[in-house]
Amino acid sequence: MSELNVILLGPPGAGKGTQAERLQDDFHLLHVSTGNMLRAAVEEGTELGRKAKAYMDRGELVPDDVIIGVITDRLQEEDAQDGFLLDGFPRTRPQAEALEKALDDLGRSLTAALLVDVPDDVVVRRLSGRRVCQKAGHPYHVDTNRPKHDNVCDIDGSRLIQRDDDREETVRKRLEVYNEQTAPLIDFYDERGLLRRVDGTRTPTEVHDHIRATLATLRLEDEI
Ligand code: ADP
Ligand code: ADP
Repeated sequence: MSELNVILLGPPGAGKGTQAERLQDDFHLLHVSTGNMLRAAVEEGTELGRKAKAYMDRGELVPDDVIIGVITDRLQEEDAQDGFLLDGFPRTRPQAEALEKALDDLGRSLTAALLVDVPDDVVVRRLSGRRVCQKAGHPYHVDTNRPKHDNVCDIDGSRLIQRDDDREETVRKRLEVYNEQTAPLIDFYDERGLLRRVDGTRTPTEVHDHIRATLATLRLEDEI
C-alpha cells in the first residue's frame, strides 16, 4: 500500500493535535508533533530544550536551524518509513523548503497538506479552555472536550494542566506569528497542488470524518 505523508497546517488551537490522535490509529501513521517534542526537551533539560524554551515562553517560533535538523532526522527513523503525520511543522517557508528537499533526497514525497481552517476568535476560545495531559500532551477542553474523570487523562491517567503559552496574551502573539510566518505556506502548498482545506469549526468527529475521506481518496488516486 502506498505511504501517506501528510502535513497538518492551521493556526494554534485549530485542532491539529486532536485530529492527529485519531488519524494515526486509522491509517497507522506516525504522529510527529514538534510542539510535543520541544516541550519534552524543555522538561528533560536537553540542549534542544535549553535553546527553545525562551522562544516558546514568548509565543515566538524557535529558529529554523534548531528545528529543521530535529525533524529531518526524525523522518529517517524506522517507525516513520510507512507514512507520517506532521503536526506543527513546517511553520515557515525555509522549513517547508527544507522538508521538500529532505524528502526528495530520500526518494519520498508529500501526499497532502491539510489546512484545518478556523477563524481567530475560535482560536482564542479553544486555547484559553485547552488542558493537556502532563505525560503526553493529549488535548482536552474545559467545555467541548472534557475527560471522563475531572482533571485526569482518559488515555494515560496523568494529570491535566494548562500550558503556560495558552494564556491570553501569549495566544495573541502566537496568532500574530501564525498569520505572518505560517499562513504563507497555504499558497506554497496550493501552488504545488497539495493543499486540501477542512472546515475546522465543525465538531471533532465531523472534522475527522472529512479528513479521513480526503486521505482515503488520495490513497486510492495514488494506487490507480
Ligand atoms: P492544535 O494542535 O491545532 O493547537 P488542539 O488539538 O490542541 O489544537 O485543540 C485545541 C483545543 O480545542 C483543545 O482544547 C481541544 O480539545 C479543542 N478542540 C479541538 N478540536 C475541536 C473541535 N472541532 N471543536 C471544539 N473544540 C475542539
Ligand atoms: P500549537 O498547539 O499552538 O499549534 P505547538 O504545540 O505546535 O503549538 O507549539 C508550541 C510552541 O513550540 C510554538 O509556539 C513554538 O515556540 C514552538 N514550535 C513548535 N513547532 C515549531 C516549528 N516547526 N518551528 C518553530 N517553533 C516551533
